[in-house]
Amino acid sequence: MLQLPSLKIADTCETRFILFDDLKNLWMETRGVNTGSDRSGDHDSSVNRDKSSAGIREKHLEFTGDGNMAEDAPVLLIVDANVRNSHGEMLKQVFPGKSTRYFEVPPGEESKNVATWNRIIDFAFSGPLRRNTPLVAVGGGVTGDLAGFAASGLMRGLPLYHVPTTLLAMVDSAIGGKTGINHAFGKNTIGAFYHPEAVLFDTAFLNTLPQREWLCGISEVLKYGYIADPRLLDQATALADPASRSQTLLEGVIKQSVQIKSKVVADDARESGKRAWLNFGHTFAHALETQDNYCNINHGEAVYAGMIAALFVSRKLGYNVSDEPLMALKDSYQLDLGGYTSAVDRLVTLMTQDKKNRDNSIRLVLVKDHGRPCVHPVNNRNLLREAWQYTFRALS
Ligand code: ADP
Ligand code: ZN
Repeated sequence: MLQLPSLKIADTCETRFILFDDLKNLWMETRGVNTGSDRSGDHDSSVNRDKSSAGIREKHLEFTGDGNMAEDAPVLLIVDANVRNSHGEMLKQVFPGKSTRYFEVPPGEESKNVATWNRIIDFAFSGPLRRNTPLVAVGGGVTGDLAGFAASGLMRGLPLYHVPTTLLAMVDSAIGGKTGINHAFGKNTIGAFYHPEAVLFDTAFLNTLPQREWLCGISEVLKYGYIADPRLLDQATALADPASRSQTLLEGVIKQSVQIKSKVVADDARESGKRAWLNFGHTFAHALETQDNYCNINHGEAVYAGMIAALFVSRKLGYNVSDEPLMALKDSYQLDLGGYTSAVDRLVTLMTQDKKNRDNSIRLVLVKDHGRPCVHPVNNRNLLREAWQYTFRALS
């Protein structure tokens, strides 16, 4: 059984991490409370939105607002279309018929745009909607980011619940409160920090996840291995292979990843700047994704390559780190990046344009030792060129 802590940000905001089954219980319990108890009429719909005082758990039990909620303001379920196809029955059991309204998100990064956001807003207003109507995002990072951003704006913020269905969303994107959509100007350029009330985990969703998507999540787990807990390096390798994947291993990896990300995010809220560590491999990755026009290489694959490059730079600066755990997965990732060798100069230029840079230096996250990250300003173009060349040789 996954046992996860909650994520507390600056004492005023808490996201609970709970199991999907708990949502079912929560839902049933609430209906029981609503129909069976003598409610004294003290319920104020704004109470649900007040996260600043104590008693968060009790407020979650008022998940559905007042007693008529189930009838007049159904829960908004924003669901990835593939997930609804594969897991529709399970969703129906948790959210029975009349009490829900479904919006299907067409799968793929292309959905993360203003047009789909607008359709979600229209959909939300096309039926009963109250300030405390829960919005539940069921899907991977695309659905979570898009639905989360819609939730942040609707009625100045609806209570948001994330049900991540990809490994990547479980270990990364559903945690930390980032929501947003893409714009022609760039990826994730429109968005908001908006913390969900809870993130609901159910590894049963992963039974239908394609192997390529598993690897996407594995890249982020490997990242946590390098920046926080080296044990995750071996565990991620075992999890990458369907033959050595086990439920216990999976739950352990998710739990540890959630803990690491939550801690980094919570510490960062206290101005520690640790959030930058989560960018390990990502400055390289974003350049590669841009060069690729987000076509052939997916985010996790780009991060995988990016970490190989960042470890190369780390070694060049004298740190004793190895990319062996990454290279051991070369056959699993099946990447052939040899063709990008001619784009090395352009890739370095793209890195210099990264929005996280300061003072004309690229702020690279490097690793001093496995589990010990640091942020290093780098302005040596040749070093970066070499890092790309090394990576493309390694992955061709
Ligand atoms: P990510 O979580 O990696 O950001 P997306 O939200 O784009 O990714 O989802 C990646 C792909 O996986 C999409 O095609 C989506 O429809 C599909 N998907 C998401 N969850 C599942 C699942 N549990 N089973 C099968 N496919 C899924
Ligand atoms: Zn990432």
